[in-house]
Amino acid sequence: MKQLAILGSTGSIGVSTLEIVEAHPDKFRVISLSGAKNLELLSHQIRQFRPKLVAVADPSDIPQLKGMLSGVDVEVVGGQEGLSAVATAPGVQMVVAAIVGAAGLLPTAAAIRAGKDVALANKEILVTAGHLFMELVKKHNVKLYPVDSEHSAVFQSIEGHRSEDITRIILTASGGPFRETPVENLQTVTIQDALNHPNWSMGRKITIDSATMMNKGLEVIEARWLFDAPAEKICVNIHPQSIIHSMVEYIDGCVIAQLGIPDMKAPIAYALSYPARVSTGVKHLDLTALSGLTFYKPDLERFPCLGLAYRALGEGESMPAVMNAANEVAVEEFLAGRISYLQIARLIEKTMDAHKASQISSIEEVLEADEWGRATAQDICARLQTGTLQ
Ligand code: NDP
Repeated sequence: MKQLAILGSTGSIGVSTLEIVEAHPDKFRVISLSGAKNLELLSHQIRQFRPKLVAVADPSDIPQLKGMLSGVDVEVVGGQEGLSAVATAPGVQMVVAAIVGAAGLLPTAAAIRAGKDVALANKEILVTAGHLFMELVKKHNVKLYPVDSEHSAVFQSIEGHRSEDITRIILTASGGPFRETPVENLQTVTIQDALNHPNWSMGRKITIDSATMMNKGLEVIEARWLFDAPAEKICVNIHPQSIIHSMVEYIDGCVIAQLGIPDMKAPIAYALSYPARVSTGVKHLDLTALSGLTFYKPDLERFPCLGLAYRALGEGESMPAVMNAANEVAVEEFLAGRISYLQIARLIEKTMDAHKASQISSIEEVLEADEWGRATAQDICARLQTGTLQ
């Protein structure tokens, strides 16, 4: 019986994780959970899974959540300390890191320091602080299992192979809803158009990141740290069917790929149950029913965010944290209807242009870079909105 903490249980990954737990009560047990604004769903999850400890992101939400839990024996805590308490709760063996954005950094670091294995969905952690987290993982001798479908595919494709024999990691990307939209029409796409992902059902932030392909850029950086691979060895292919979830090419010309119906329950379950596999309810793949599998190179004019991510990875140090912060601001502003789709990349680029990468040697310094990136992006955003910056 594996005992779990789920950071971000009310999100898309969190809910899918709990569906796996529900299907396998003999294999997994929930010890602690965390959520942010969706108190109704969180209270429902608490009644169903009976964790001992629960955290909400904002401590001022504690009374309201407690009010929804009369008769339930659970400790409710809040804020960053509360999230870290959930991640380090006694008895927890594995922490599912499924908070979105840089907010997951501190609780996930606390989990690793407490010797917990981590199933990592929260890719922004490795994007902003990859070298620090990989050092922490090594120092505390814990395991880090990828949840992202592409990284899970790479993880499954490198098992039993020597890293020095790898020539390329090929991440696949669906290309999102604007894969074939004429570039001149991107000027007028709406929030709803951008949220309309063709293959995957996900949280709002990552869905916009998929439309801009910043998501793939974040994944390139995530892969750099997870698999200790230089940027030159990580490439991206658009594969509209999302059947091959990623591939690894070796020096002898062989390519190993992992295939499946696109459903996050498969990579989540593998991270939870590794090295065993458990049933997930995901439909089995019928290759004969597919009309074809196609691949092509992404066009960086259409997807400038992918180029920005490679640039951030090349410049290194604080730049990926600043890029990530600017992206979080840009996506929020876009979803609030305050900037256009094309201004997302513009805002990120301008923020990066204004930053001189500085050395990062602690998570506190990552958080400082994150804060600088947010403040600068907000400032640039205001200028874009008033037209004082093009
Ligand atoms: P969601 O937006 O659906 O869920 C995010 C979770 O984080 C929710 O539980 C939310 O709480 C919580 N949360 C939000 N802000 C904060 C905060 N400031 N402090 C603490 N908790 C917070 O995101 P997803 O599940 O889609 O994604 C989670 C992570 O997994 C992201 O990093 C994403 O890139 C990655 N990922 C997601 C995939 C997917 O298919 N969804 C695929 C691969 C990776 P509440 O809802 O209560 O406000």
